[in-house]
Amino acid sequence: MAHVVIDKERCKGCGLCINACPKKILDFAEEVNDKGYHFATIQEEKCIGCAFCGQMCPEVAIEVFK
Ligand code: SF4
Ligand code: SF4
Repeated sequence: MAHVVIDKERCKGCGLCINACPKKILDFAEEVNDKGYHFATIQEEKCIGCAFCGQMCPEVAIEVFK
């Protein structure tokens, strides 16, 4: 299983990773980070490790480990 680390304090809540994920397992958190953005969260057990999310993120907030 892949492991995805999202740095929630770097996230600006743009949603690009959410749109990029072929498994549709990323979503906005109900909570906000210290900057007031709804950060991205993941249902990691369904991740295929494609890393599209990390490639899309303009804030480099996502790291994907296989
Ligand atoms: S690595 Fe791929 S499947 Fe996993 S969360 Fe990112 S975009 Fe989705
Ligand atoms: S692409 Fe990056 S900044 Fe945008 S919502 Fe996803 S993790 Fe946050």
